[in-house]
Amino acid sequence: MQTTFYTELDRSKWVVKMLKVYNTLTRSKEEFVPLEQNHVRMYVCGPTVYDYPHIGNARSFVVFDTIRRYLEYSGYRVTYATNFTDIDDKMINRSNEQGIEVFELASKFIAEYLTIANQLNLKPATINPRATEHIDDIIEMVELIIKNGVGYEVHGDVYFNVPAYKAYGGLSRIPMDELATGARVEVDENKKDPRDFVLWKAEKPGELSWESPWGRGRPGWHAECSVMGKHYLGLPFDIHGGGQDLIFPHHENEIAQSSAAYGIKIPVKYWLHNGFLTIDSDKMAKSERNFSTAREVLDNYDHQAVRLYLVTGQYRQPLDYNDKALKQAIQSLERIKNSVDTIRGRITILERIGSRESDADKKLAEASKKVRESFEKEMNDDFNTPGALAEIFTFVREVNTLTKDVGGAAVLRESLAVLTELVGILGVDLSDDSQAGEGDGHSGEALESVVEFLLELRENARKAKDFELSDSIRDRLKQASIEITDTKDGPTWKIG
Ligand code: AMP
Ligand code: ZN
Repeated sequence: MQTTFYTELDRSKWVVKMLKVYNTLTRSKEEFVPLEQNHVRMYVCGPTVYDYPHIGNARSFVVFDTIRRYLEYSGYRVTYATNFTDIDDKMINRSNEQGIEVFELASKFIAEYLTIANQLNLKPATINPRATEHIDDIIEMVELIIKNGVGYEVHGDVYFNVPAYKAYGGLSRIPMDELATGARVEVDENKKDPRDFVLWKAEKPGELSWESPWGRGRPGWHAECSVMGKHYLGLPFDIHGGGQDLIFPHHENEIAQSSAAYGIKIPVKYWLHNGFLTIDSDKMAKSERNFSTAREVLDNYDHQAVRLYLVTGQYRQPLDYNDKALKQAIQSLERIKNSVDTIRGRITILERIGSRESDADKKLAEASKKVRESFEKEMNDDFNTPGALAEIFTFVREVNTLTKDVGGAAVLRESLAVLTELVGILGVDLSDDSQAGEGDGHSGEALESVVEFLLELRENARKAKDFELSDSIRDRLKQASIEITDTKDGPTWKIG
């Protein structure tokens, strides 16, 4: 009974949030209940650091960062582990091609990942473990699998014996006989069964290797995630993420390993998989040669617009990559930023002329409350970011209509805070600092100083009896919706 984890107060808060997530393991949307009260433990398969990540990989990073941000917004503490695969066939082949050490190759592309992570505004992970830091743990796990009768060694290679693990196929739901047919294409004489997969690979000449009970060698790809998930999060943990291509064999094998080694039937409660970034309906992939690197895209487009584009689709659906989609994201970002500027400008004006509340204040306060609720409703439905964005744009329209009539700065500040917070969950940073120096749109301060300067010119013109100039300044400001009123204390101004 999960409810016993919660105090009455926590429970009511939790029920209001009512998050549902699609679990690949059960093929259904389930109510999200973490294993520990108020704490979510989450592991996401990270990049293989042999090359520049493409924008499809970036989608996966952004999707899980957004999920993490929403969980934190919902009040959970999130422990977020995402790994670097720094030893596998691709790493070894590329380091040989380039004539550099595997570690050097890894350092170069870990640095590249961290640069794009920063540009995409990914929150730093709690931990970024590397496979090569956990070789001893991997050996220990492989020994346990052998000891439990599910693994065997042949000439320095160690295999997981799939038929010995009855629950195999639970995640991918590929029938065992179908699996056997597929596996027979690649015959490996060392294997007892064609479906068996490698846990430890014997050293080949020129390959990076480590001492092990089976001679020098290196881990099979799947081993690292079982080990690092357990090491940093403990088993079972709450969420495991990655792209849909990882469901089989990577995650299927991960479950089999963790379960066979550590005796835990369900090592992860929720399995979440992002859909592919596609080009003309094909998966973007290095092997297909249809990819754009994240670097190229980030060099050509505004970083925040790229981030926004990557959440314009629901994370399980495919998302097409094309110039039009990015241009739309640029426009959407502009609309949000313009709205922020409108609010900031109005706050500046109200600070000058003082508050005088009106009907619009009530309407904007109501809209600010409503957008939070409707945003949460969308995100609680398996992180429906396009729905959440649609709610943000409804709010933006309301802000644009109402702001000029709002008379209370507090209401405006609240609407600005809500807007900033909600787009922040999607990874778009609208804070003052992030906007400074971008030169795109007028901040309230900039507007104020320009208007003040024009008023000064007008006053000078009036004193010099140059009424043609002073009137034209007033008229031009009026055209820009800035109205001047002359009072006995000098001119005042307001927008609209
Ligand atoms: P890799 O570096 O190939 O291990 O991939 C890193 C992450 O990107 C994994 O979670 C993959 O499943 C994911 N991924 C790979 N290609 C795509 C794609 N075209 N669209 C979305 N995610 C992808
Ligand atoms: Zn993994």
